[in-house]
Amino acid sequence: MRSHAITERAILIAEADRVFAIFIKQRDKWTCVRCHKPSPIGSKLFTCSHFKNKRYLKVRWNPANADGLHKYCHTLWEYDKKGEYLLFKQRQLGNVAVELLKKEAQNTSYHITNDQLKLIISRYKSLIGE
Ligand SMILES: [Zn+2]
Repeated sequence: MRSHAITERAILIAEADRVFAIFIKQRDKWTCVRCHKPSPIGSKLFTCSHFKNKRYLKVRWNPANADGLHKYCHTLWEYDKKGEYLLFKQRQLGNVAVELLKKEAQNTSYHITNDQLKLIISRYKSLIGE
């Protein structure tokens, strides 16, 4: 039973990531927020970037924490989260919201249940029209 439970959770997290990434790409109109170049819809070279790392579950499916970026621009910003990416987020969200996002990410007592994951999945599924 234990390994079954782990598998179910892993599947739910992967599905939440999948629908959330589509939502972010659609929200950003398949256009890179860094270089402003559009990508063809469905392009594998267009990615969903997380400002605060995905290991912080509290903000993993928060749209304020995610941006549509080219693979190339994603790589650049992945290694510049205290530089150019931070400046972008401050312009995009405002300093207060960025600080809030960081604070939420650091909430180590946060736990997300499988039922909450299912809610996230159904919410983003309806937002992307699945
Ligand atoms: Zn780009």
